[in-house]
Amino acid sequence: MATKRDYYEVLGVSKDASQEEIKKAYRTLAKKYHPDVSKEPNATEKFAEIQVAYDCLSDPEKRANYDRFGTEDMAGFSSGQSEAGFGFEDIFSNIFGGFGGTSSRSRSSARRGSDLQAEVTLTFEEAAFGVDKKINVTKLDTCSKCAGLGAESKNDISTCSRCNGRGTVVTQQRTILGVMRSETTCPECGGTGKKIKKVCSECGGSGRVRKTKVLNVKIPGGIADDQTIRLSGEGEAGVNGGSAGDLLIHVNVKKHEIFERDGNNILLDLPITFSQAALGATIEIKTLYGLVNLKIPAGIQCGTKLKLAGKGIDNKINGRKGDQIVTVNVITPTNLSTKQKEIFAELSNTDETKNNSIFDRIKKFFKQKN
Ligand SMILES: [Zn+2]
Ligand SMILES: [Zn+2]
Repeated sequence: MATKRDYYEVLGVSKDASQEEIKKAYRTLAKKYHPDVSKEPNATEKFAEIQVAYDCLSDPEKRANYDRFGTEDMAGFSSGQSEAGFGFEDIFSNIFGGFGGTSSRSRSSARRGSDLQAEVTLTFEEAAFGVDKKINVTKLDTCSKCAGLGAESKNDISTCSRCNGRGTVVTQQRTILGVMRSETTCPECGGTGKKIKKVCSECGGSGRVRKTKVLNVKIPGGIADDQTIRLSGEGEAGVNGGSAGDLLIHVNVKKHEIFERDGNNILLDLPITFSQAALGATIEIKTLYGLVNLKIPAGIQCGTKLKLAGKGIDNKINGRKGDQIVTVNVITPTNLSTKQKEIFAELSNTDETKNNSIFDRIKKFFKQKN
């Protein structure tokens, strides 16, 4: 919170340097250590240190006090250094509020753009295989006339002289506790670090305009109902160099006529006749990939699940592939003929423990019919 270094030493000037020399030294150093451009280690800290030193030495009154009382350990309480006029409570709140970091506020005016929400409805197949969808988004986008700078032309932008483009100003005060430094948003430029002479006629200086954009969104195969796709940077434009927000697309998937989905597996209920169950059959059934012949073994029980390996969803999101699971549902016959009724009556009286060829008898019956 209190700088240990001599302000003259920080700026590299002698104790009797002129205002011109101080200004020149400050400019050279500020350029060298500006956090936006400097590659020097600890540039941010150095820059803040330079700022504090210059704040003091460039003001004849402050400089005189500094010369008189020396560096930070002077006993003179509140010698009128404060720009904001701190009271004693302010000083304590600053100490305990921990304002030690000097770099974190250097971009205090930059704001990230808002995230936006959109919705898309897909058919079952579109979700399974993936699809390209056009989505209309109305949002505050970067003004194309000024490229988000907010000025009519590049020449209308100058660096704020109060904060030297930093967006914040350092205020300081000598107290019994030492030299107190605090950093606040530059009141001159509101934290942007820039002064605009003539604002952009398109966006009124905000750097953003409301636009409707058509986005082509690639939806990956395997996406499920209720999932969200995040398109990074497709939300609203940021302010003062802040990054753009994201676009969150909520996905709805329509129900399929016959298929259901369980993870990457496709579920299908297959109604079969009593005779197909009893005698076995080969049935042509629908899959996502077209018609497939499914062999129903003779004597299959209602509720049996048959697997068509690899006929589920080829999920591009998690790289897994599912199966199609066919659940056999035997339809109990109605409208039986007298002969059929007799057969079923006989079957129901059959003790299955003694007669294990129940299906043979049904087979025989249907073969007679054929
Ligand atoms: Zn503009
Ligand atoms: Zn400023």
